[in-house]
Amino acid sequence: SLQEKVHGTRLEISLESVEHNLNFYRSLLAPDTKLMVMVKAFAYGNSRYELAGLLQYNLVDYLGVAYVDEGIELRENGIKLPIMVLNPSEDTFDKALQYDLELQMYSMQLLKALAEWKQDRGSAHDQIKVQLSFDTGMRRLGFEPADLEKLCNFLIRNAHWLKVTGVFTHLAGADEEVHNSFSKQQLDTFSTMAAHLERQLGYSVIKHAMNSAGIVRFPEAHFDMVRLGIGLYGVDPTAISHHMLQPISTLKTSISQVKYIKEGETVGYSRKGVAERPTTIATIGIGYADGFDRRFSNGVGKVLINGQLAPVIGNVCMDMTMVDITGIEAAEGDEVIVFGEGLTISDQAKAIGTIPYEILTSINERVKRVFY
Ligand code: PLP
Repeated sequence: SLQEKVHGTRLEISLESVEHNLNFYRSLLAPDTKLMVMVKAFAYGNSRYELAGLLQYNLVDYLGVAYVDEGIELRENGIKLPIMVLNPSEDTFDKALQYDLELQMYSMQLLKALAEWKQDRGSAHDQIKVQLSFDTGMRRLGFEPADLEKLCNFLIRNAHWLKVTGVFTHLAGADEEVHNSFSKQQLDTFSTMAAHLERQLGYSVIKHAMNSAGIVRFPEAHFDMVRLGIGLYGVDPTAISHHMLQPISTLKTSISQVKYIKEGETVGYSRKGVAERPTTIATIGIGYADGFDRRFSNGVGKVLINGQLAPVIGNVCMDMTMVDITGIEAAEGDEVIVFGEGLTISDQAKAIGTIPYEILTSINERVKRVFY
């Protein structure tokens, strides 16, 4: 039971809260707008395939992953939904076809490699589905307006085996108002490019552009599908929808030992922690190898113990961290909350100058995931 004293570090994930967040974003969509959920990087650090299973049960339309291997893991665990893969490479074409994964095609070079692969090794009746990306201002991956003519010609020539299922772009500043006019420019470019492509292809494709922030901030630009990520995992990227989302996960560990330190003693590696007064410390079972960032060292990071904040003392170790619990009633075996109830992922991210995405995706595989 989760109520028992916890030994070992674990990430507890509430499936009900995931469904709550899913329903919130769904409530913002028109009935015929499709929903892709980004489950790359182990569903943002949350699960290997369990959340994908929940999403399939809840009838989302698509899943998005970064690598073909991530898609294969989902397929091998019963996921039948369409899956888009963001980072394909030439050596993954076989697997992509075998597991029915839709690869992002972002350059003529990649498309030509796919055509060569098809000629050499594909069978005559293979129909290959791809998603095309348009770079409208992110300057990461994607075809640019100047590539469009060449791209369309190629697609038309290869239409007998190459099927474009979707076309998408990604906003560089969807979450920030200062970038609104840039975002609108990106969306205009995208609309123009997509319309041209569809005219040339002679069939319509699923057009998509919005991430979590965009879903909330640009309701007029949902197109045919949206790509939900961080919001599903309970982190609000906009501050608009903050009160509508539920945190889904709690990272917990426990106190391994309590020690009483004299004034002037030092704590941990490089003797970086210095007791400025008689200090009670607790050694807790999480370190940088678990994803508790070493930048939390020396008071930068805090954890919650019995409802009170305890600052890190000294350097974070690989598997353990010492925290100052002077004045806090706590004993060996007591639960420690690293984020979750009362201490958010965003709080922790701010403390070390990063974003919640990094805190979440850094949680190591060895941390047990518990679903409830
Ligand atoms: N679409 C693409 C192409 C992405 O790379 C990502 C995430 O990085 C998302 C959508 C989801 O973004 P968010 O987690 O901000 O919703």
